[in-house]
Amino acid sequence: MTATRVIVAPLAFVDDEWIADAAIVISGDSIAWAGPRAQLPADHSSAPVEIRERRAIVPGGVNGHGHTFQALVRGFGDDLRFPDWMGKIVHPTAAGLDSEGLRIGAEFDFVEMVRMGITTAVEFFYLHDRGNDNARIIFDAARAVGIRAVLARCMFDADPGPVRYQESLAQYEANFRELATEVADDPMLHVHPAPHSVLGASAEMLQLGNALAREFNAPLHTHVADSAGEVAVSRANWGQSPVARLADVGVLDEYMLAVHTVNVDDDDLRLLAESGASVVHNPSTNAFLGGGIMPLARMRELGIPVALGTDAGGANSRQSLFEEMRMAALLAKATQRDATVITATDALRLGTSAGGRALRMPVGKIAAGYAADLVTLDLGTPSLHPTRTATQNIIYSMQPEAIERVEIGGRSVVVDGEVTTIEVPRVLAEVDALTSGWAPVSGTHPADTMTR
Ligand SMILES: [Zn+2]
Repeated sequence: MTATRVIVAPLAFVDDEWIADAAIVISGDSIAWAGPRAQLPADHSSAPVEIRERRAIVPGGVNGHGHTFQALVRGFGDDLRFPDWMGKIVHPTAAGLDSEGLRIGAEFDFVEMVRMGITTAVEFFYLHDRGNDNARIIFDAARAVGIRAVLARCMFDADPGPVRYQESLAQYEANFRELATEVADDPMLHVHPAPHSVLGASAEMLQLGNALAREFNAPLHTHVADSAGEVAVSRANWGQSPVARLADVGVLDEYMLAVHTVNVDDDDLRLLAESGASVVHNPSTNAFLGGGIMPLARMRELGIPVALGTDAGGANSRQSLFEEMRMAALLAKATQRDATVITATDALRLGTSAGGRALRMPVGKIAAGYAADLVTLDLGTPSLHPTRTATQNIIYSMQPEAIERVEIGGRSVVVDGEVTTIEVPRVLAEVDALTSGWAPVSGTHPADTMTR
């Protein structure tokens, strides 16, 4: 018999709506029931009750896109143009990172994510070295931190291209199946197919990814039109935009989870809407790298499902979905010159339930049958006052100090604002040791003593 307990709070986001005086019944790693406390079913009335006074409970954030190792280069390539950032920072780091570096990067990034209320993280991972050992390092780091991880296993067969990314179709399929089998029974770890982009994956590889997505009932993660350069090369190669190319090779359908979709025109938007594809909006990263602004309001009008991602720590640079909810809302209002195009509650749904739907996983919602992934916010902190309007303030004014407890699969991984699963000072010391000899391309390099 799985242990059952009841959590009670004055405010909670239950089944995508705010309710007062809520009860949430946790059974093992899942939510058995949630709703107004007055309606708590009698069969749960003998379960122990934990009253969280002056607290609000929201679903854990579902981070639809990221690359953990890039957190290690945070600040090293800021204020560069996208090709320079990629060529001078990301590619050299990716080429030089060993298994220890991968572990440190993943632990570091996952620590920051859970501290900021992210409970499910998509790791779009491409440093394969033609096998799964590196992916297992990411999974080990996720286990150590206690975060729910989706390894979007990158597919890349363009030549020339970074050699660590490359696999043949047969190699990819064998490796994907091996890794998927290893984690098949673990609700905390998942593997999804992820063609790098239309430039990084051949038509055959995109089609293999789509077949695997259908077989495993997983989305097909792909970078789409995140830079103007990608669109230009796609048009030069095939006479088509990246979105049109995906449609042309037969993979633009309801399994598609298109990441970024910043540089899209009306035809692209129509294709996306007709196909049933979803997108992952990474507003901070696209702004940070000067990539542009995804047309969120227009996509919502067209009914295109939108999830949110922090993208990489070296390109954002904060690993917080609350931050992305706020950015998504503000940028949509600014670009449309209309503050009514999205509400605070809409933004909260983007970072939670919409992410779960996009990933085809029962996460991101406080409702029966969903994972017990909860974020408890302290309504006593200044940034959430006045508490009369807390449901607005959680999106627009909240600071990280309010994030008090984070539970993933019913397990507390953050308590009183501190990560409890892993020795954070040790992880930070390893980050500093690893990066102490690295030279930033832009900005000033402080004295080495600054990091001691
Ligand atoms: Zn990416």
